[in-house]
Amino acid sequence: MIPELDGVPVLVTGGAGFIGSHLVDALLARGAQVRVLDDLSTGRRENLPAGAKLLEDDIRDVEACRAACAGVAYVFHQAALGSVPRSIADPAATVAVNVAGTANVLAAARDAQVRRVVYASSSSVYGDARPVLKREGEEGRPLSPYAASKVMNEELADVFRRCYGMEIVGLRYFNIYGPRQSPEGPYAAVIPRFLRACLAGEAPVIYGDGTQSRDFTFVEDAVLANLLAAGAPAEACGRAYNVARGERTTVAELAERILEAAGSGLPPRHEPPRAGDVPHSQADPAAAEARLGFLARVGLREGLERTLSGVRA
Ligand code: NAD
Repeated sequence: MIPELDGVPVLVTGGAGFIGSHLVDALLARGAQVRVLDDLSTGRRENLPAGAKLLEDDIRDVEACRAACAGVAYVFHQAALGSVPRSIADPAATVAVNVAGTANVLAAARDAQVRRVVYASSSSVYGDARPVLKREGEEGRPLSPYAASKVMNEELADVFRRCYGMEIVGLRYFNIYGPRQSPEGPYAAVIPRFLRACLAGEAPVIYGDGTQSRDFTFVEDAVLANLLAAGAPAEACGRAYNVARGERTTVAELAERILEAAGSGLPPRHEPPRAGDVPHSQADPAAAEARLGFLARVGLREGLERTLSGVRA
């Protein structure tokens, strides 16, 4: 169940980023008083609607986290350095933000006695787990510093629950996409990269042979999972849940669909596979449905159309 949020003070870390800013929109639409803690390193001020209060600060600074958490009822912790390749290139930066930063946010939330923390984990925690269908409790070893940082987030959340009795829910996002996802730079995600290439009349680049598969999930569904996690019964806390549709699309199929939707005739170009990428990623979404009441609503066709119209607008 989504909790009553009208007039309720909430904090979204990373709220100027892709997923965080959509969450901010949804929280404002429900009448929440929204505070955002973001250093604008990958996020953009323009992503934030009027009505959200931006605290331009760094989660590596515990005092900034304390100031941001003071007086809020819910913390939605989205701030992190994303991207597997970025973490392979600069593991220390990823660990500093994602691990130490998360410890700061959790400590500040504890001090402020917030009602609940919902935080972003990642499908990357499944690492080299063999089954194609990823199920909570069947994790493998992480394949990148980014994945290791998300495993550490889950460990920290569990420790904070046990040491301080906090209510914390983790969400393992599977390849979230949608409007406002940045196509910029070498660490851009696959969908905005493909869309940008197609619209610029360039061939989309596939790393590897394109048989690797992902469970692409529309951002509106990630937002819904956050709202439901905030209101789920206390027994649902202390775990991390898959947030996905439970479907699998290969990267080659994705390129085909995007080329078709964008009306481009250019075939994709292949480059060598990237280190740290997992071969297949498909979620079993059953636990999130049973415990949070979450079921993804937006299919890939509709999600790509909505993303494309966002890019063209
Ligand atoms: P994003 O880069 O758009 O958003 C991250 C936000 O965090 C940005 O606004 C950035 O400026 C902010 N940030 C980064 N370092 C910070 C710091 N030190 N202090 C304060 N703010 C900081 O990425 P996103 O795709 O919206 O990801 C949001 C969360 O979801 C992240 O935790 C990410 O690891 C996780 N996630 C995303 C996906 C996906 O497919 N997009 C998949 C799995 C997990």
